[in-house]
Amino acid sequence: SILHRARFTTSAARLDQLPPPTGPEVCFVGRSNAGKSSALNVLTNQRRLAFSSKTPGRTRLINMFGIPDPLDPDAVLGYLVDLPGYGYASVAQSAREEWADVLGSYLRDRPSLAGVVLLIDIRRGVTALDRRLVDWLAPRKIPVLALLTKADKLPYGQRVRAIAEVKKELADLGRLNAVAFSATQRIGIDEATAQIVNWISP
Ligand code: GDP
Repeated sequence: SILHRARFTTSAARLDQLPPPTGPEVCFVGRSNAGKSSALNVLTNQRRLAFSSKTPGRTRLINMFGIPDPLDPDAVLGYLVDLPGYGYASVAQSAREEWADVLGSYLRDRPSLAGVVLLIDIRRGVTALDRRLVDWLAPRKIPVLALLTKADKLPYGQRVRAIAEVKKELADLGRLNAVAFSATQRIGIDEATAQIVNWISP
């Protein structure tokens, strides 16, 4: 898929440090440890494109990855945007508010935002922090793909129930899809890839 061509483009600590919006952006958001970096790495078929929240440093930043146009290597079709994970217990309140600022302003205001990939641990379901994020998004008509991560940890019947539960809890989002996902067992990768590619290059 074209996602395999993703290349690190830029990091920013604040929204005003991002390059001006050009191509469509698909952002990845989720609680720390939900499996965001594993998902980004498997979807791009790269071992260390994104860094786990267990690795300090770059994870507090917004990281942008460009998808080159296969027909014109100097042009970019769009971007995958890795937003900072949230809900990490050991983080000071001031830093948490800073993240909420960055996340909230990106999700509310970024004009080039074409789609949101929301990572949710399938055993944990929608948390209060996920809910807050969804509330920032809800006024916009941006489509959301919920990836219910670590699906390999649940038997099939419980996966189906978890998907139905997430769809119910996020029903106020106009355009929502939820799929079981596993980076390790390669569940849901084709479906997620098709959706993301369609947002970047409709
Ligand atoms: P992030 O903090 O959201 O970027 O999460 P990571 O991708 O670093 O994953 C957090 C932990 O969950 C790591 O220990 C991963 O090995 C584990 N993990 C991630 N994806 C999967 C998965 O699909 N299945 C299982 N069983 N574990 C996973």
